[in-house]
Amino acid sequence: MSDQLVAALEAGGTKMVAALASGPSDILIRERIETTSPDETIAKLVGFFSKAAVDYGAPAVLAVGTFGPADLDPKSANYGMITSTPKPGWSLTDLLGPLRKAMGGVPAVFETDVNAALLGEVQWGAARGLRDAVYFTIGTGIGGGLMVNGDLVHGAGHPEMGHMRVTRHPDDSFEGVCSYHRDCLEGLASGPALEKRWNLAAEDIPKDHPAWEIEAYYLAQACLNVLAVAPPRRVILGGGVMHQTQLFALVQKKLAELGRGYFDLGDLEPFVVPPQLGDDAGLLGCVALGQRLLKSQAMTGQTTGS
Ligand code: ADP
Ligand code: ZN
Repeated sequence: MSDQLVAALEAGGTKMVAALASGPSDILIRERIETTSPDETIAKLVGFFSKAAVDYGAPAVLAVGTFGPADLDPKSANYGMITSTPKPGWSLTDLLGPLRKAMGGVPAVFETDVNAALLGEVQWGAARGLRDAVYFTIGTGIGGGLMVNGDLVHGAGHPEMGHMRVTRHPDDSFEGVCSYHRDCLEGLASGPALEKRWNLAAEDIPKDHPAWEIEAYYLAQACLNVLAVAPPRRVILGGGVMHQTQLFALVQKKLAELGRGYFDLGDLEPFVVPPQLGDDAGLLGCVALGQRLLKSQAMTGQTTGS
């Protein structure tokens, strides 16, 4: 399978990273494209993939890990689209369709960026070999990807773990920054929440500032909520805010306190860890997604994707 080429796209709200790869250590070419208007961005992506196919060979599969909300249901009329984003111009944009068409209708897989990053970490990183794991990114927003028994989780729509409710820290009266819910997890614990609450860019808040105790309290609740619903064997916390590495031990300690011995943190130490693939988790996750689709099609003898 490793000789089949995957067209991989990590589609973010600020930038896209596109690549043609035959495996995690065989990225033949990659390019960063700023996310501007849908027309301009998609045209640049089509241009990149078309040239890459001429230079290196045609891909056998297209795998996209996207920002959201997005429609991941192959049976839906809006499959492959960004749906109701506040990002100007992108609501109801078909992202998958034009790319797939430019590749001659190759089999395709469309996932969330966080589920793709989680799969990358499961395949080659901090959750290697696990079948139950969760990945949160704590950055400009908060997103989460979830794997249960080897499957990336979607229900009626995809998880929106950044918008789960959390109990307020007794010392925190900040109103929250989520434009939908104010004081959900993202509203209280994202990078912009830290900045607005403390009137300091998150990266400039000193390591011994009480901000991090409060931040850890919210992130530990997020971990606890996932433990209560779909127990992972490992929690991966990534994104810009987690460059504050003191948070890992703080979150794990708070999690143990909040769990009061009731929740099983499993046998892997530590339970709360940083990603190992760093900034490449999303893109490599797309490579893994593409390879998984090819493998499952080879097993079932299918020739076309959804
Ligand atoms: P995005 O979420 O836009 O993809 P990032 O994951 O890099 O990008 O997150 C950006 C957020 O992370 C910003 O709010 C920024 O203030 C915050 N951030 C970046 N570096 C640090 C740091 N060293 N410490 C704390 N916060 C940081
Ligand atoms: Zn919210």
